Amino acid sequence: MKIIIAGAGIGGLRFAAKAAASGHDVEVYERSANLSSMRFDWHDDVCREAFSGTGIEVPKGSFPKKNWSFVAPDGRIRRMYESESEADLSVRRDLLNEELATAAVNSGAKLHFGYEIEAAIVENGRVRGVVAGTKKMYADLVVDSTGAESCLKKGIGIDTPEKDEIFFAYRAFYEKNGTAPAAEHTNKVYLKHLGENGISWAIQDGYSVDVLIGRLGGLERATLENALSALKADNPTIGNRILVGGGIYEIPVRYPACKMVADGYAAIGDAAFMTIPMLGSGIATSIAAADMLGDCLNAAAKKGLDAEATASAKNLWNYEVAFFTRIGAAHAGVDLMKRSVLKMSDEDLSWMLASKVLTNDDICLLAKGRPIYVSPISALRKVAVGIKKLPTLLKVNAMLMRSHRAIRIAAAIPRTYAEDKTEKWSEKLRKIVSGG
Ligand SMILES: Cc1cc2nc3c(=O)[nH]c(=O)nc-3n(C[C@H](O)[C@H](O)[C@H](O)COP(=O)(O)OP(=O)(O)OC[C@H]3O[C@@H](n4cnc5c(N)ncnc54)[C@H](O)[C@@H]3O)c2cc1C
Repeated sequence: MKIIIAGAGIGGLRFAAKAAASGHDVEVYERSANLSSMRFDWHDDVCREAFSGTGIEVPKGSFPKKNWSFVAPDGRIRRMYESESEADLSVRRDLLNEELATAAVNSGAKLHFGYEIEAAIVENGRVRGVVAGTKKMYADLVVDSTGAESCLKKGIGIDTPEKDEIFFAYRAFYEKNGTAPAAEHTNKVYLKHLGENGISWAIQDGYSVDVLIGRLGGLERATLENALSALKADNPTIGNRILVGGGIYEIPVRYPACKMVADGYAAIGDAAFMTIPMLGSGIATSIAAADMLGDCLNAAAKKGLDAEATASAKNLWNYEVAFFTRIGAAHAGVDLMKRSVLKMSDEDLSWMLASKVLTNDDICLLAKGRPIYVSPISALRKVAVGIKKLPTLLKVNAMLMRSHRAIRIAAAIPRTYAEDKTEKWSEKLRKIVSGG
């Protein structure tokens, strides 16, 4: 089968290796001029599942992420404790990309750089290929791994994000100010920083300080400058010189696309909103999704399906079902919590974080994008901790209950593809998550 992969990012490269190893004819088109210009040599936070059992080596220079300290809107700090052996790894992105690219090429995939894909070729509702400049390239299956801003979704009914479902993140690694005293909290993340919809962080990363300022829906220059000076005032180790980064990048932060496949098309990674809705950590998830899509094609081959049937929405739906049941349902629950937390008053959020309503284990789970289970009985027991906060406690409990409901709805994705059923399911899911 001929497969075109648009975008040589994490998901695209991993899938390229899988599909080429299974004997498919795989061409990857990437807009960057070459591999080294694609990614900065900065560190990203990647959970260990991305490496265990996947055959992907942990890139050189990786180290366990230090514990997060969450800063509430009122300035109170809650430190999370997690053993070093369980902590996510801080990984050099360029080395990971390089490893995935080498695996893809070694499996037989062909990588083409300098191709800006502009649109999908759609004939009678089926994707037949892609357009890049004056070139038209045809394939049985187009895999879209071009990220949140994908231009391939038009005309085939694939979900596109609302503006406030995109996180606009400024990220830069600043030279460390050697004259400032060492920071007490090495990995500080500010929730609803300065009362705004988003987070900021300052991470002491050896010789540099990793700074991120992310806001939902957009990041104005004035907001960025204000947040940066507040961060610098609170973290004197942030020096003046930027060593790496300094741009504003877009990350989808919502539950996964309810329709990520069509005839001749499958979306993967950020193009299908596979990041953790609260944090935007999507590397491990994109790798897992690439493997699930590969398994879906292999299962079709075992059944003896031809290329047309293998690349049909009906067959590719098995990939979406696998993704939702294994990962996506939990993300729907986390997304509901994110939306509810953003609607909370700063006072309630500060209380929730500082009180014992959420245990250290709960916070560790949330930081990994996993749902938490606080039963009404255990929540009521905790009322003793702060009886004056009973209304807030009830609100938190109601939020958790709704989040479990969202997880159940998401996990009940129709097992077979039928437009009326899938639309009904996605509407039900959209309603519960966005009404949360
Ligand atoms: C600032 C920032 C910090 C992040 N931190 C983390 C983190 O710590 N941990 C984590 O797990 N995740 C993190 N993420 C998210 C993570 O980068 C993504 O979830 C992950 O890379 C998803 O993989 P992907 O294949 O979907 O997209 P990407 O890896 O982003 O790859 C998309 C590729 O498509 C190419 N492309 C785009 N449009 C076109 C086009 N029209 N034609 C051709 N090529 C195109 C791009 O150049 C790029 O190479 C972060 C993201 C950002 C922006």
